[in-house]
Amino acid sequence: MSFRAPVTDHGFILNNVVGYDEVTRTERFSETTEDLTAAILTEAGRICDDVLAPLQRIGDEDPARLDNGVVRTPEGFAEGYNAIAEGGWVGVSADPAHGGMGLPMALTTAVNEMMSGACLSLQVCPLMSQGQIEALEHHASEEIRAVYLPKLISGKWCGTMNLSEPQAGSDVGALSTRAEPNGDGTYAVTGQKIYISWGDNDFSENVCHLVLARLPGAPAGTKGISLFLVPKRLPDENGEAGAANSLQVVSLEHKLGLHGSPTAVMQYDGATGWLIGEEQGGMAAMFTMMNNARLGVGVQGIGAGEGAYQKALAHALERKQGRSLIENGNGTIIDHADVRRMLATMRAELFAARSIALACAVATDMSRATGEADWAARAAILTPIVKAFGTDTGIKVAEIGVQVHGGMGVVEETGAAQFSRDVRVTAIYEGTNGIQSMDLVGRKLMDGGEAASALIDEMQSYAESVRGTRPRMAELVWTATETLREGMEWMVSQKDMNARFAGGVPFLKAFARVLGAYYHLRAAVAETAEGGEGARVKLARFYIYRLLPEHEALLTHAKSGAEDLFALGVEDFGVS
Ligand SMILES: Cc1cc2nc3c(=O)[nH]c(=O)nc-3n(C[C@H](O)[C@H](O)[C@H](O)COP(=O)(O)OP(=O)(O)OC[C@H]3O[C@@H](n4cnc5c(N)ncnc54)[C@H](O)[C@@H]3O)c2cc1C
Repeated sequence: MSFRAPVTDHGFILNNVVGYDEVTRTERFSETTEDLTAAILTEAGRICDDVLAPLQRIGDEDPARLDNGVVRTPEGFAEGYNAIAEGGWVGVSADPAHGGMGLPMALTTAVNEMMSGACLSLQVCPLMSQGQIEALEHHASEEIRAVYLPKLISGKWCGTMNLSEPQAGSDVGALSTRAEPNGDGTYAVTGQKIYISWGDNDFSENVCHLVLARLPGAPAGTKGISLFLVPKRLPDENGEAGAANSLQVVSLEHKLGLHGSPTAVMQYDGATGWLIGEEQGGMAAMFTMMNNARLGVGVQGIGAGEGAYQKALAHALERKQGRSLIENGNGTIIDHADVRRMLATMRAELFAARSIALACAVATDMSRATGEADWAARAAILTPIVKAFGTDTGIKVAEIGVQVHGGMGVVEETGAAQFSRDVRVTAIYEGTNGIQSMDLVGRKLMDGGEAASALIDEMQSYAESVRGTRPRMAELVWTATETLREGMEWMVSQKDMNARFAGGVPFLKAFARVLGAYYHLRAAVAETAEGGEGARVKLARFYIYRLLPEHEALLTHAKSGAEDLFALGVEDFGVS
């Protein structure tokens, strides 16, 4: 069975679970009708199935390579990328004034997830451009926007994001790339950047790098960082890709997975760049790009998980092994209780993560359409959860996918292991999942827990309101929201940030567990309303009865503070 984009699931979640109808009722998105939404999902799904999915294995087996300083992408990637660009999929949510479709982020999010499931290593490329488009829309001058946005949105030019340096990974403030004014409004950018995704390619006319660098005399740390746009080819007087700039790809990394995506070491030698945003306002501008990219990376995890799930399901429906204890089964390993547990876990986790991601996108859309601070706060609190839970879910699901395959799971020809290898980095790039948890329990609770409380209140009152429809599930979700609220209040009450950070990861996981249960409950109620007792109700039961209880253990862990962690001295970690 080849990959089939989960179009129906996205449509169901948008229409029944995450309040997308509210987005389409706003003036800004009033043209996004139900029919248009369905058409977008269906057409994107078709490209995923027919054009992108066949590239998945090729990218793994025929990695991107550096040939005499020129990046060569895997066979077929140029055609795959052109299909994405020509379909307008880079600019689904970009400004129509520059050629974008101006559609909700909820649709971009659904499309990105499906494309990640089809071919993750290629999908990284348009995702980088999308982040750059958003940063330029918000922070670039009119002149820069006029030249670059139409090219990036049409996909003729690609965008990248250059933060990392050897000594500056999670600590971006340690970067040393410098930018000196040329006296004509441009800057000379010099330094080395590492791990740059799609640092170059052989299919776009130009590659535009957003580079974080330091101006002369700028203070140390993140405060002194500015953002520069540094194209591979300088635009000529007609705004077309012209003379080569002073930059090059030095090497490509040999990675665990994601082989189709060239991860470059970039060298800038006095390359011409333009300041984006304010001097020393680089982090603010970069955060625009990063928030977008964090949602995008979260759904990369979910997409890869979906691909792994579909492959595992196909195997479980074919592989015969042993006699099952059930009657009238399928006659294959799907009849074994443990295999069914694995498949149900994969499917239920993916539904939870997908719903959380689409809820975050809806909050982003509502914030843009209404300008209301509450929606912005909702999107802000959900973003690190989507990034970390989406990618952790992808990793977990892909790993279970290998297990479902048995020995064939580690034989590369099946492609099951590729999902596991490809998705692994999603928990690391775009801010590691540890950093995401610190963002959640640090910055995102700085409002005293107001935004988190509003979300918990929403879950709780919903559970209360459906007690008559799904009593047991509603009761379990209601109780879980109370436990989560206690955990959140404990976090807010900690003045010692190390105590918060020590429990950040389990707190984020517990928050996601409860959110996932809430969205499963909504799905079950929607299906009940349609007169059904089908797959969504059964899946919700599985998630709420079996997976949701983990939140209690996670919150116990989250509330344990840092003392016992640091009671272990560095010397106690030695080999004994
Ligand atoms: C395939 C790939 C593609 C990438 N693409 C890009 C790209 O396009 N552009 C770009 O700029 N970068 C890119 N990166 C870099 C990526 O963003 C970094 O790898 C990531 O931010 C982590 O930085 P690091 O590797 O230096 O790890 P480190 O920062 O050294 O982290 C090591 C460990 O320490 C933890 N840690 C570090 N600091 C803290 C802290 N303060 N508190 C708690 N824990 C901490 C981390 O969570 C992690 O577990 C890419 C990386 C890879 C592997």
